[in-house]
Amino acid sequence: MLNPEIEKRKTFAIISHPDAGKTTLTEKFLLFGGAINTAGAVKRNKANQSNTSDFMEIEKQRGISVATSVMGFEYSGKRINILDTPGHKDFAEDTYRTLSAVDSVILVVDCVKGVEEQTEKLMSVCRMRNTPVIIFINKMDREGKEAYDLLDEIEEKLSISLCPLSWPIGQGHTFKGVYSIYNKHLNLFNSDKTKVTDSVVAASDLNDPSLLEYLKENEIKTLKDDVELVDGIYGKLDKDLYTDGLVAPVFFGSAINNFGIKELLDTFIEIAPSPKHREAEERDVLVEEKNFSGFVFKIHANLDPKHRDRIAFLRICSGKFERNKFYYHTRQDKKLKFSNPMDFMANEKSIVEEAWPGDVVGLYDSGNFKIGDTLTEGEKLQFKGIPSFSPSIFKEVENMDPMRTKQLEKGIEQLTDEGVAQLFVMQPGNRKVIGAVGELQFEVINFRLEHEYGAKCRFRTLSYTRSSWVTSGDRKKLDEFVKRKQQHIGFDKEANPVYLADSEYMINLTKQDYPDIEFHKTSEFK
Ligand code: GDP
Repeated sequence: MLNPEIEKRKTFAIISHPDAGKTTLTEKFLLFGGAINTAGAVKRNKANQSNTSDFMEIEKQRGISVATSVMGFEYSGKRINILDTPGHKDFAEDTYRTLSAVDSVILVVDCVKGVEEQTEKLMSVCRMRNTPVIIFINKMDREGKEAYDLLDEIEEKLSISLCPLSWPIGQGHTFKGVYSIYNKHLNLFNSDKTKVTDSVVAASDLNDPSLLEYLKENEIKTLKDDVELVDGIYGKLDKDLYTDGLVAPVFFGSAINNFGIKELLDTFIEIAPSPKHREAEERDVLVEEKNFSGFVFKIHANLDPKHRDRIAFLRICSGKFERNKFYYHTRQDKKLKFSNPMDFMANEKSIVEEAWPGDVVGLYDSGNFKIGDTLTEGEKLQFKGIPSFSPSIFKEVENMDPMRTKQLEKGIEQLTDEGVAQLFVMQPGNRKVIGAVGELQFEVINFRLEHEYGAKCRFRTLSYTRSSWVTSGDRKKLDEFVKRKQQHIGFDKEANPVYLADSEYMINLTKQDYPDIEFHKTSEFK
């Protein structure tokens, strides 16, 4: 038996290709959970999603994104923690890291567009960690692809077995709502874009004559046939397969119209996993252990030069976190205490006295933390599962103000600790190369170096598009490889050698030439 405080926690992220409806669904969850009263209260971090690189616009929104980084609320006796992820593809690495701090995800798919580029990428990150995934097929009020076709497409493109737990009644202009296959229950709502209304009909029996007031006879017949067919094809949900990340339950709906949300939320809190044990380098850490442990998965900088504090987001993995208690910072080998740890409820933050596994607390930080840092009650632990991925753009830093070299070095060091981008050092000359997923990061770095550190730099684009972390069972062979390929080797922050290449093809060629060298796609290799 788990401690009820842990058992009641459901920590997850809603993820999607931009515009599929992630923000709308988040907002509707908060509405149904009673955490907000009208939609629109959660300010949109929309700028983060536009495809233009409007960096200043994004900066304006940064204040908002602190507030929406975590949204906690109570629903049906559960404590729900929704972790927000940026939608813009240039911030994909941020999203991947946030996924290291959740116990499950809800992946939103647009029924008109089906599986999109980001949908596939996000799914592959979930697969890396066997994160349990629920799929919400949104915008059923639009004339989209047919439900069965969508399921086939998702199964094929995302390589995961599905199990529909709700089913749409009609689609597009004939869409009336959804039937919960899981609870064998039908609730129809009036469409309302800003608040939650009582259901207009609730029935557990599809033969209930009162349904005829709201649905046509042929609609009821089609629904009955569909439910039977779906049961025949997909069968019942095997919860273990879901928690192992092998089967994804599917829900249909229209987030904007409130359709299908209650069915999703009610089933989610029942089947979604509570916090589970976590792997550390040293051992498995169980949630019910008495001693506290947690790790930093995100650092948010305050861009106001008068308030330099950063906020480090800590996911609690075991024990109980308490305010004003000393904890052990394992990388720095020192003790720290936090007098103002923050808790996030809906879109407000407040000081928290204690927090449990699954919770995320915000810690004011003056530069102690970097992504992946672990706090414990004294044990030396390093949590796994927060790897760096291969960047796709690499640029060499050129100092533009030799009088401010120290500031530049410090700025680059701190910004890459925060996870804005990755730093590689190349020889000869200790040249600094920044690797990032998108151009936006370089704008962010330039702007912040100038405004926060008073340093100026220029970036020289290199031809690399891929990086591979290299290891070998034979130390000599590795040294030899690093020496031979020196001009393409960068050392990451942990001084691991990384082979930089112009293409995947180049990496494959090199692999053939050096059979004793192992090439890894991420910085974490087993
Ligand atoms: P995000 O980029 O994934 O966060 O998507 P948003 O939640 O911002 O939604 C993108 C657009 O789709 C917005 O204009 C929403 O109003 C719209 N939208 C969201 N849900 C639905 C829906 O169920 N039906 C329709 N027709 N539009 C929706």
